[in-house]
Amino acid sequence: MKVHFLGTAAAEGFPNVFCRCQACQDSRKAKGRNIRTRSSVIIDDAWRVDYPPDAYYQAVRDEIDMSKVNHLLLTHTHYDHLCAGDLLSRIEGFAHGVEEPLNIYGNDLALHQCRIGFLEEGSIQKQFMMKRLIPFEVFWIGQAKITPILADHDPRETCFLFFIEKDGKYLLYGNDSGWFPEKTWDWLKGKKIDMAILDCTVGQNGNPKSRNHMSVETVIEVQKQFQAWNEENAKTQIIATHFSHNCGLLYQDLLEIFEPYGVEVAYDGLIKYI
Ligand SMILES: [Zn+2]
Ligand SMILES: [Zn+2]
Ligand SMILES: [Zn+2]
Repeated sequence: MKVHFLGTAAAEGFPNVFCRCQACQDSRKAKGRNIRTRSSVIIDDAWRVDYPPDAYYQAVRDEIDMSKVNHLLLTHTHYDHLCAGDLLSRIEGFAHGVEEPLNIYGNDLALHQCRIGFLEEGSIQKQFMMKRLIPFEVFWIGQAKITPILADHDPRETCFLFFIEKDGKYLLYGNDSGWFPEKTWDWLKGKKIDMAILDCTVGQNGNPKSRNHMSVETVIEVQKQFQAWNEENAKTQIIATHFSHNCGLLYQDLLEIFEPYGVEVAYDGLIKYI
């Protein structure tokens, strides 16, 4: 599986263009891996998780052919994860030569946002297929088996994380979430996980079970949990992402903090294979 990180920031982006805090000022100067757009990944160049407001820029920057991306998995509807109106650019007339419909998978709210954004117009409907996800109910994309599991995030909607099994490899897409809910831990327990992408929005807060979003300490606690299960999961590759400027940490700071634990720090454009 190829996992391409298109964006690795929390909601405001890093830097937040409106913000004068030290981290934002430093990231503007340092550039490179300190410029983070809103979080999203693309898997095997064919399907992506979330459609942030930066999706257009990400595709141009990393030379992604979005006409070939036929599956969109949505974690939840926060504005950094779903910019539904932007998907109108994919319809015939606005775009040319897009053959397949876009399959959109998400919770009720996410699909509703898409519907009011563009699906009421009859001729457009066949260009988008929508599937409502139920927690822990498996769905398939070709040979890939995907389970939407519950996040600890916004209690006003059913926020999902994704457990993806493809070509004998296992990927946990774990943002946005705080310390996982009990149901999710029960479901995950003992499963082989080759790679886990984890939320690290808040940086260091001293809380190994941070709620709503994870912290450095929570990411390390999740790693300990995996290690406690079995030897195989002691080798799980953990990648931290979804960083907020409010954490006050630049790329180099994060590298130094996570280095002793073997946790990788995501940056925009990072490509990993499992
Ligand atoms: Zn977010
Ligand atoms: Zn800032
Ligand atoms: Zn969120």
